[in-house]
Amino acid sequence: MSETFDFVIVGGGTAGCVLANRLTADGRFSVLMLEAGGEPRSIWISIPAGFSKLLVNETYNWRFATEPEDATQNRMIAVPRGRGLGGSTLINGMIYVRGQRGDFDGWAQMGAQGWSFDDVLPYFRKLESYAGPVSEWRGTGGPLPVMEVRERPAIADAFIAAAGESGFEANPDYNGDRQDGFGYYQVNQHKGRRVSAEKAYLAPVRHRPNLSVLTGACATKLVMEGGRVVAVEYRRGGEMLTVRARCEVVLAAGAIQSPQLLECSGIGNPEVLRRAGIVPHVELPAVGENYVDHFCTRMNWRVKVPVTLNELSRGPRLGLAVAQYYLNRTGILTLGTGLAYGFVRSRPGLSGPDVQYFFMHASYANAAERKLDRKPGMTIGVTQLRPESRGTIHVASPDPLAAPVIRPNFLATQTDRDCMVAGMRIARDIVAQPAMSRYRDSETSPGPGCETYDDWLNFARANGQTIYHAAGTCSMGRGGVVDSELKVNRLRGLRVVDASVMPTIVSGNTQAAVLMIAEKASDMILRSARGIETPAESRLARAASIR
Ligand SMILES: Cc1cc2nc3c(=O)[nH]c(=O)nc-3n(C[C@H](O)[C@H](O)[C@H](O)COP(=O)(O)OP(=O)(O)OC[C@H]3O[C@@H](n4cnc5c(N)ncnc54)[C@H](O)[C@@H]3O)c2cc1C
Repeated sequence: MSETFDFVIVGGGTAGCVLANRLTADGRFSVLMLEAGGEPRSIWISIPAGFSKLLVNETYNWRFATEPEDATQNRMIAVPRGRGLGGSTLINGMIYVRGQRGDFDGWAQMGAQGWSFDDVLPYFRKLESYAGPVSEWRGTGGPLPVMEVRERPAIADAFIAAAGESGFEANPDYNGDRQDGFGYYQVNQHKGRRVSAEKAYLAPVRHRPNLSVLTGACATKLVMEGGRVVAVEYRRGGEMLTVRARCEVVLAAGAIQSPQLLECSGIGNPEVLRRAGIVPHVELPAVGENYVDHFCTRMNWRVKVPVTLNELSRGPRLGLAVAQYYLNRTGILTLGTGLAYGFVRSRPGLSGPDVQYFFMHASYANAAERKLDRKPGMTIGVTQLRPESRGTIHVASPDPLAAPVIRPNFLATQTDRDCMVAGMRIARDIVAQPAMSRYRDSETSPGPGCETYDDWLNFARANGQTIYHAAGTCSMGRGGVVDSELKVNRLRGLRVVDASVMPTIVSGNTQAAVLMIAEKASDMILRSARGIETPAESRLARAASIR
């Protein structure tokens, strides 16, 4: 006998926590959430500086990696993903960026009806509790606290001033009416502590009698009967179990594992499935295609004065920083990955910024593992906001516990290569400005020998990483995997709600958009379950009656 719930959510990550909260709010529906990882217990989760520890943590991080590809010099690039209640918000950099109006208007133009900026803005406002100035763009009563980073080291002020000398204005709120400019990042923290999706959405409602949460429960297969997904098979504690869904199964396993579970269940491109030894049941060629991520290079400089995290986080100074953190919840332990930001247009004629910068007064001997240099240093991460290159994530075997094959296909288009090169050149120009002269020593990476277009491109190929924003692999819109209601095409009883449904990646870090997607999806799911027609459904019904 298997248990039955109204909704079964697969994945207790960022989107999963929002869904668990909203779908149980009125008490009418029973919900089970299956999460492969565990409870978030490590102290490194709540301390923002714990980010670097979590990047290589085996418990809270799936630690995927890309296949080696020619374009990035046959390196395997790390693809961390959060594991446990809260998902990737347990281990992420906490940077809060919504993206640009044009991102969402672009989704609507690609067939994602109801996802234009004007449609999604109310959900962005609903989810956040912004500590900055009140405006028509920002929300103040939502579950997720959003505030500017508290630390304001003089070297970061100098970086922002140098950007001004290069012709880029300061912008007090890049999540407001325009993204362009420089300033301090906004982060999801409260009193110097990380606020994950688990903290913001799940913990406050764990007591609800209609919500069940199973950790250590890894979904292995979606069970279909007559074109409808009716149940989920999962493994827990060495046992194989099944749970049935009366209304819907909601897949929220993230952009790497949602396509994986679809494929392991026989939903996808029949050729890909057969190659992996899986019998195809539902033909959906877009599953696992359209994989997009933010490729990022990191430029480093030696700094003349000992004001960087390289020295401040060692020896007795670290002791002081720990004391400061526990006494006041301030200091360097409140810093995650981003301190000062920049959003710039790399060439004229663009409708919005196409390059994002991450300035940090720290430098790493090993960027992937975040091992700090011993001498003072600083880093500017350079990323292209809207890459054109598309890769794939597919299974290579029927084993749902085996890692899927991740092929990002970075730098595949001329636009992407040009944008990265232009972005790095602008960063060098900013650091060369007088405002940075007190701090700037030598550029160590790529270094002064890097001058020609090919030098820059080779540097990117040899050193670029991702900034961990996998998206697009179960995309919404024309020819995609899900429709505008996030229902999986050609099936009933199944939706996907996570970063994988983005038709194109948003211009910025992705968690805010995932939270928005899950907030909007919750409304759509509840409307269906309560028997209220959505506008899209009533249009379809009208069209059918006319025929
Ligand atoms: C290291 C890192 C740093 C980042 N930094 C930032 C940042 O600073 N700002 C920002 O905006 N974004 C950042 N991101 C990206 C952002 O966190 C993600 O885009 C977002 O959290 C993804 O949400 P999701 O719901 O799609 O997936 P996730 O939050 O990853 O949730 C998926 C969940 O599903 C579970 N799961 C997977 N497979 C199964 C299965 N078969 N059965 C049961 N459970 C399963 C996973 O364990 C996980 O808990 C970062 C991401 C990472 C990894």
